[in-house]
Amino acid sequence: MLFAPGSPELQIYREYARRLGHTVPLPEVFVRTLEALSETYDGFFLDSYGVLNRAEELIPGAAEGVKWLKDHGKKVMVVTNNAALAEEDNVELLRSIGIPLDPGEVVCSGSLLARERKNLGIDGPVFFMGLPSARKYLQDADLESTDNPAETRVVVMASSRGYRMRRIAEAQRILHQPGSLLVVLNPDAIAPRPGGVMARVSGVTARSLARETGCQVALLGKPFGEIYDLALERIGLPRERVVALGDTLATDILGARNAGIDCGLVLTGVTPPQRAEQEIQSWKIWPQWLVPNLQPPRETVVREVD
Ligand SMILES: [Mg+2]
Repeated sequence: MLFAPGSPELQIYREYARRLGHTVPLPEVFVRTLEALSETYDGFFLDSYGVLNRAEELIPGAAEGVKWLKDHGKKVMVVTNNAALAEEDNVELLRSIGIPLDPGEVVCSGSLLARERKNLGIDGPVFFMGLPSARKYLQDADLESTDNPAETRVVVMASSRGYRMRRIAEAQRILHQPGSLLVVLNPDAIAPRPGGVMARVSGVTARSLARETGCQVALLGKPFGEIYDLALERIGLPRERVVALGDTLATDILGARNAGIDCGLVLTGVTPPQRAEQEIQSWKIWPQWLVPNLQPPRETVVREVD
């Protein structure tokens, strides 16, 4: 999408790109269908928002595409930063709009909390910001939550939804303390919503909290590397057998390239077809492939005519 100059989302994504380093330019980016990609790869990491759905709205062709991949023996794993919901609730949301997923086929950035907790030095209760569903990530990490700002220096933000302004003020008080840490389970700055609307999400809230308080920030999820390690473990394939498909250059494509995983930019989300080339040149983040949508080939029925 076209980011307004100076907008927080532009600055956030530029910062991620700076932090991870720009990707090595590719001489040419090829357009590929799902069918063509399936000749090269055995596993598909699929981004959710902008590729399969826009919240409760199904993206045309996505349900058929996922079914086609599975029918052709491919392994499918939805890799999402949507930590507003527990993994099983992400599966339910996608199943409810027709994406044929089985339990265990969503890997969410929220699950990195359990893996990274020790590295981040979190050993006491945390102040939680998010929807009730995402509390599952605290349970999996064996972390208690507290609503008393005096009891913790750690804020875990799962999403930009599920709390009122007062809770942001309380988080601010905690994060003003020396040695405080803000753990962000969804580093995304924007997300496509139904009807072509783009909404600012938790990456933006996290950035303003960090700037106001000077706290340490841990960003878990795409484009940072830990989620790809977890997704590769879950899918059980070597990285060269997997392709990652997503709609956002600065998260899906930057992250996959940085993790050494081939990737395709899908043009049904924040990067529309008419802007893809220009955006790639402007961001200097090159996918191997451009994928117009997840529409599978139409089955042709050949009948003998007598
Ligand atoms: Mg997306």
